[in-house]
Amino acid sequence: MKKITIAIDGFSSCGKSTMAKDLAKKIDYIYIDSGAMYRAVTLFCIQNGLFDGNVLNEEKLKKQIAEIEIIFKLNKDTNKPETYLNGVNVEERIRQMDVSNKVSIVSAVTFVREAMVHQQQQMGKAKGIVMDGRDIGTVVFPDAELKIFVTASPQIRAERRLLELRNKGDQQTTFEEVFENLKERDYKDQNRAEGPLRKADDALELDNSHITIEQQMQWLLDKFNHVIDDEK
Ligand code: C5P
Repeated sequence: MKKITIAIDGFSSCGKSTMAKDLAKKIDYIYIDSGAMYRAVTLFCIQNGLFDGNVLNEEKLKKQIAEIEIIFKLNKDTNKPETYLNGVNVEERIRQMDVSNKVSIVSAVTFVREAMVHQQQQMGKAKGIVMDGRDIGTVVFPDAELKIFVTASPQIRAERRLLELRNKGDQQTTFEEVFENLKERDYKDQNRAEGPLRKADDALELDNSHITIEQQMQWLLDKFNHVIDDEK
């Protein structure tokens, strides 16, 4: 069967990753979490002292960016892909709040975006890929056969992110902190000059505030099958 490219974009914490991961598994496609790549670059900056408070030393990062290797490996026990930064598994680490608080600074830097977009395009060359992010349908794969733009209310998104943090053992971060971080990232993601978050004209919109994971999967599979039928 012919393989296609699926681009899933949307706001922070609206369940894009879970949705993209589950869909990829169901249809036997490769899943790539593009946000994890920006998070890994951010962690590299934190670990290498490239931040002075919230000020990023872009000059230094530019010199070191070629040293950053980000790959995804399938965890055979969980059957989920995990992010590796220069050989180290950082899947859990990149979800912590210090990274979340700084990632939009890093993801707004033009040369960082260029490097990430290039890598993402290479990963998707053979099609059969589901990639989620902010600019996948607009910049990375403007010719993707299926584009989804996901939304959910900020309140619900913050509740979901908090639950995720709690499940990973973070009992400190408050709802307000998560909510503020989310609103700030929404604003920065939508208003940056390079690759801003916006719905591609040909993307299908899905508000998942009040639907179950199962309903969402059925909706996605319907859209996927529809495109596949048209491609035949
Ligand atoms: O998807 P996630 O919330 O993990 O993404 C983390 C951050 O990475 C976003 O807030 C955004 O600033 C950045 N990002 C991006 N472009 C993408 C994916 C993520 O700028 N394609």
